[in-house]
Amino acid sequence: MKNNKKDRQEVEFNKNKKRNRKKYNKEEYKDNDNKNNRKNKDDNKKLVLWLIIALLSIFIVTCLIIATVKENKDKNVIGEDEISYTNLIKQINDGNVEKIKMTVGSTTVEVTLKGEEEPKTGIIPSTQAFIELVQEKSQEGNEIELVQVKPNTFLIIADRAFSLLPTILMVVLFGLLIQMQGLGNKGKVYEPDENDTKTTFDDVAGLDEEKQEMIEIVNFLKNPDEFYKMGAKIPKGVLLCGQPGTGKTLIARAIAGEANVPFISMSGSEFTEMFAGLGASRVRKLFDKAKKMSPAIIFIDEIDAIGSKRSDGSTAADNDNNQTLNQLLVEMDGFDSEHTIILLAATNRPDMLDKALLRPGRFDRQITIGLPDMNGREAILKIHARDKKLADDVDLKAIAGDTAGFTGAELENILNEAAIIATINKEKAITNKDIDDALKKVTVGVEKHSRIMSEKDKRLTAYHEAGHAIVSRFLQTQKDIKEVSIIPRGIAGGYTMYKTNEDKYYISKTEMLEKLIALLGGRASEKLILKDISTGASNDLEVATDIAKNMVTIYGMSDNIGPLSINLEKDPYQMQLFGESMENAIGKEVKALMDNAYAQAQAILVQHIDKLHELAALLIEKEVISAEEFEKLFE
Ligand code: ADP
Ligand code: ZN
Repeated sequence: MKNNKKDRQEVEFNKNKKRNRKKYNKEEYKDNDNKNNRKNKDDNKKLVLWLIIALLSIFIVTCLIIATVKENKDKNVIGEDEISYTNLIKQINDGNVEKIKMTVGSTTVEVTLKGEEEPKTGIIPSTQAFIELVQEKSQEGNEIELVQVKPNTFLIIADRAFSLLPTILMVVLFGLLIQMQGLGNKGKVYEPDENDTKTTFDDVAGLDEEKQEMIEIVNFLKNPDEFYKMGAKIPKGVLLCGQPGTGKTLIARAIAGEANVPFISMSGSEFTEMFAGLGASRVRKLFDKAKKMSPAIIFIDEIDAIGSKRSDGSTAADNDNNQTLNQLLVEMDGFDSEHTIILLAATNRPDMLDKALLRPGRFDRQITIGLPDMNGREAILKIHARDKKLADDVDLKAIAGDTAGFTGAELENILNEAAIIATINKEKAITNKDIDDALKKVTVGVEKHSRIMSEKDKRLTAYHEAGHAIVSRFLQTQKDIKEVSIIPRGIAGGYTMYKTNEDKYYISKTEMLEKLIALLGGRASEKLILKDISTGASNDLEVATDIAKNMVTIYGMSDNIGPLSINLEKDPYQMQLFGESMENAIGKEVKALMDNAYAQAQAILVQHIDKLHELAALLIEKEVISAEEFEKLFE
């Protein structure tokens, strides 16, 4: 269990640009996203299920009522005051009938026989033929009084409604299913006018080059004719690549806003939701809608959900996916000069997309949206601070410096969390401390003061965190300590935070090796001092193993394996190229990296064991130790 009290997680505060780290983040995101999606879908499914159950029960009750009524009718045919049709005809022919009362539109008649007071009810097969028969008999001399009465409208309506009820229910049920599948009115459409808080390029911070590229598209959407007259070909599809939260949707919406055209958006996963076989028709509907509104922008988020490489179509799901993708290709080739439509799509995994999607005339333009740099982050913070009350001590530039590796969405989230904290604390404005707390809340989780740690756990956590801190302190490439804490936050039992360095685009082998050592410092300290190891290091081990694996397989950093890139995620069959011996060699190499790092971590701790004890004792006493207090230990 992750939530085990003893569990401790190292959180790297400075999510820097290290490639390995980025990858880890990416997966974290993917996971969260999936979870959210799954949850929503589950909720939807539950709702539908309940509706179906409710409707089915109504339906069954109705059937039962109808059956009972019918049964009663059947019984009554033999009853005293009933007359069968054969008998009725016989009585008419025999001249025994005095009066017949009919209701228009009904096959039930009231028959009064001669010499009887009480009328009998009978059922006739057809009104018209019966009336003719009666009139014929009357002319023949058997005078029969024929009374036709108007029906009681209320009864008729009730009768109709009753017999239509099952049909209505079926229609409602079907409609619901369709709604859920999005055959109906899916694809959110934002009309240019009704959206008064229109997104423009002013709402997009940083991303200056990207915006520059997009201006061309805006101009085209505004004056398509000029471009066509000149014979210019405008891109039909632009692929925006980047992590979630980097502003892909935002920039797409801003293009629509700047050009003042409708923004029709849909997520790739919506095409494949719930029921199979509908993806293709949904794609068609989406484009039909756009054509009607042209000029327009279609935005498909998570296009990899439909656009991943086509498979052999061996399973039904594969087949469905292939059809959806084919339809998308057909539609993209279909619209031309009469429809000014630009397709924007977002993905985090352009390498997963089918090659056919990337051909000229389709998504032939790719724009990569990276994580914002220092200036970008400051600009994003400024945009989201516009509608917030900030105290004078807030320094957005400093926050930008502390948040390397954060996406625009995360920065927005931090300011929002800070505003919530300030409100709860009944402050006049958002202070620097609120933002600091928000940062910790977002990166490590909420402080859990209620969680009372046993003395034993406290000692374990203290030595674990102290292990990380001391080891990092003596590694050249590792960042400075910002804070060490044994106060539980989120699922972490304690944490070691690092200061941010400047944005980095590359990371060296030495740096990665030392990162492994720092990560294993916690476990090494537990073993060295407490002679026992705990589950608290599970996350460290996971992160470290991932880094070691990437070093060997993706970055070609292992001397024994050589400069090879083996990305099994990208191509699961790549391993067949090298055979089993390579597989074993990779395993050995990853293990060697880890063992080595662990040994080095232990060596550093043995060498500085006094400092380790001092720091752990200080942690047990104070629970949180600042950068200054930490450095004092080494003076
Ligand atoms: P993506 O589509 O890449 O997952 P979004 O466009 O949905 O990301 O971004 C989510 C939110 O994050 C946006 O609505 C916006 O508030 C904020 N954001 C992201 N990038 C920026 C940016 N460059 N400037 C301003 N806000 C941004
Ligand atoms: Zn740890």
